[in-house]
Amino acid sequence: MKTDTKSTVLLKHHLKALRLPTVLAECEKVAKQCADDNVDHLGFLLNLLELELIERDRKASERRLKAARFPAPKTLDEFDFAARPSVNKPQLLDLVRGDYLTKRENVLLVGPSGTGKTHLATALGMAACAQGKRVRFWRVTELMTTLREAEQERQLLRLRSQLTKLDLLILDELGYVPASKAGAELLFDVIATAYERTSVVLTTNLGFEHWTEVLGNERLTGAALDRLTHRCTIIETTGESYRLQDAKRRRKAAS
Ligand code: ADP
Ligand code: MG
Repeated sequence: MKTDTKSTVLLKHHLKALRLPTVLAECEKVAKQCADDNVDHLGFLLNLLELELIERDRKASERRLKAARFPAPKTLDEFDFAARPSVNKPQLLDLVRGDYLTKRENVLLVGPSGTGKTHLATALGMAACAQGKRVRFWRVTELMTTLREAEQERQLLRLRSQLTKLDLLILDELGYVPASKAGAELLFDVIATAYERTSVVLTTNLGFEHWTEVLGNERLTGAALDRLTHRCTIIETTGESYRLQDAKRRRKAAS
């Protein structure tokens, strides 16, 4: 049977109503291809639905990446492990597989500025997005400000409930700016809520012994550290800043 124009119009209407945009866009092309290749009806249907699924996955992954708000895309492939011997490559390759997320475990990246902490945290986050996880990247100062604003606008519950829906919370740059008392308390609260529910990847330039200096309250800092480190992998990025290394290498190559 040859499909007439009226049937085609109706078909497109139904596909729209059923929200199958890829089937809608591709059905005529795939129908022709299948006819040429002698593919039967079920094969045709399979081809089309596969296209729809692939496109849905792609869109969902794009949405998750956007929602995560990474400052810049970074992957492990781009990470030069030779330049950072304190970072264990097999350990990172194991982490990006995401088992720590299923186990609600944490990752702490500790080291001086420019040593790749944000890079590695982002790479872990992007891998998690690709695995269908809900991720949100926050600079610690930005999160504290947002929490305080939410509190003033009586939106704190809403923001906190959004945070509890995450699979991975990335807290970047703890310790660069001393926290206000209110900010620190709100941050402690987020960390306490995430405990055993949401994985946290945290980056900091501070050794644990210095956390109290930045966060104030010794008791609360101790409690936060206790929760963060209970089930966690600690990665130390020691050595000189990558940018500095890079600049030196370039200078050497030029001379
Ligand atoms: P940190 O967060 O520790 O201050 P970043 O992750 O922001 O450091 O790194 C600074 C810059 O150097 C970024 O552009 C990052 O991609 C790059 N970088 C750092 N370490 C490496 C590395 N080992 N290989 C490749 N690029 C790196
Ligand atoms: Mg950083």
